[in-house]
Amino acid sequence: MNILILGSGGREHAFAWKMAQSPLCSRLFVAPGNAGTAQIAQNVALSVNDFEGIAHFALQQQITLIVVGPEEPLVRGIRDYFSVRPELSQIGLIGPDKHGAMLEGSKDFAKAFMRQNHIPTAGSRTFTAATLQEGLHYLSTHSLPIVLKADGLAAGKGVIIASTLEDAKESLYDMLANKKFGEASASVVIEEFLSGIELSVFVLTDGKTYKILPEAKDYKRIGEGDIGLNTGGMGAVSPVPFADAAFMQKVEERIVKPTISGLHEAKVNYCGFIFIGLMNVAGEPYVIEYNVRMGDPETEVVIPRIKSDLVELFQVVAQGKLADIGIEIEEKAAATVMLVSGGYPEAYEKNKVITGLAQTEDVLVFHAATKTTADGNILTDGGRVLTVTGMDAELENALQKAKKAAGVITWEKKYYRKDIGLDILQYKSININE
Ligand code: AMP
Repeated sequence: MNILILGSGGREHAFAWKMAQSPLCSRLFVAPGNAGTAQIAQNVALSVNDFEGIAHFALQQQITLIVVGPEEPLVRGIRDYFSVRPELSQIGLIGPDKHGAMLEGSKDFAKAFMRQNHIPTAGSRTFTAATLQEGLHYLSTHSLPIVLKADGLAAGKGVIIASTLEDAKESLYDMLANKKFGEASASVVIEEFLSGIELSVFVLTDGKTYKILPEAKDYKRIGEGDIGLNTGGMGAVSPVPFADAAFMQKVEERIVKPTISGLHEAKVNYCGFIFIGLMNVAGEPYVIEYNVRMGDPETEVVIPRIKSDLVELFQVVAQGKLADIGIEIEEKAAATVMLVSGGYPEAYEKNKVITGLAQTEDVLVFHAATKTTADGNILTDGGRVLTVTGMDAELENALQKAKKAAGVITWEKKYYRKDIGLDILQYKSININE
C-alpha cells in the first residue's frame, strides 16, 4: 500500500514509525512532516488543509490510505471532500466526516450528543451574545469553581476554570461580547466543575465496531507539579494504574458503546479515532471532551504499546471490517517526556542546533517540530520540539529511561519537566476507585 500521513508533529512521527514496520506498507509519505519523519518516510511540502493539493498528490502517487493526524482538516471536512469525488472515493481515509468531527469542533454539539445518548458528563448550558444577560445570571446561581468553554476550536486555549464569580462573569463577557476567541467563542458552554483525576481513553472504530486502545494520562502544564500555563502537552504515560478493569468496564459500557451507537444512529460516517477525555470522579467516569483524532503526546505512548500491525488495522477500519481482527497490546509501560524550547508556551526562539540524538539509549525519539539543514544539522522549529519514549515492564523504569534521554539531547535553552508520571506511581498502592 502507498500511504500518506497528514501532519507534522510527534503524533505523526509515531504513526510513521509504526506503519513503516508493516510488510503491507510499500511507500510512506508524510505531509508536511518533520526532520524525524524524513528519516523513515518521504516528506511532502503540502499543507494539511490543502485538500486539492492532497487529492492531486494522492492520485499521482497511487495512494490507497490517508491517515489524518490533526483535527483541523477533519473539522473542515476532508472526508466529505474525498467521498463526493468518484476518483478519490476508493482511497481509505482514517478520520470522521465533518458531521462526526463536530464532536470536537463544537463543545455544544458534543454536550447535546452526550445528553441525547445518556453519556455521563458535567451538567451544562450554552449561551450566545444574545443570551449574555441570562448567562451572567446563570453564573451567579451556580457553585464555584465553574468552567467556561468556547464552543469552537481555540487551539486548546478556550477553556477557563473560574474560581470567583467576578472572574467567571468577566470571562463570559470577554468571550461573548468581546469575542475573545473570535468565532470560536460566539457560543460558550458553561459547565459544572468536576473534581477528580483525568485520563484519556482512545478508541479506533469503523463506525460499527470498535477497539479500545491503551489508555494514557498526559501532563498539560508547563511547570513541575502541574502548575503554570497550559501547553499542548509536556509528557504522557500509559497504562494508567487507576484505570483498572472495573473502571474500564464502566467506560466501555457507559461511554464507548453509547458513543458508537449514537454516531451510528445519527448516520455519521465515523471511521477513525475517538479520543475521550475523562474525569475519574471517585471511581465513576465522566466525559470532559471528545477529540476526533489521537492526542499528542499520548500517541507517543499509545502507539508503541500496540503490537498489532497498524497498517492492517487501518486497512480493515477503512473497509468497515474491524470486527474481523483482534488487537494485541504490549504489556510493558510507556512514558514520554516532551522537550520544548525555553520560553514556550510563550515567546521562544527557533533554529537552535540539536545535539545528542545519536547518544540516546533504549528510547524512541519522536520529532515534533524539527527541520534539517542542507549540511545535515537538525534544528528546532517550534515550541514542542521532540519527545522521548521509554518502555519497560515497570513504569518507574520507563520514566527513568525517558528522563535520561531527555537530559542527553541538548540545544540552547531546552526545557523539560522532570516530574512526568511521578504522581501516578502512588496509584499503584492506593485504590482511588473505591
Ligand atoms: P477541554 O478542552 O474540554 O479538555 O478542557 C481543558 C481542560 O480543562 C481539561 O483537560 C480539564 O483539565 C479542564 N476541564 C474541562 N472541563 C472540566 C470540568 N467540567 N471540570 C473540571 N475540569 C475541567
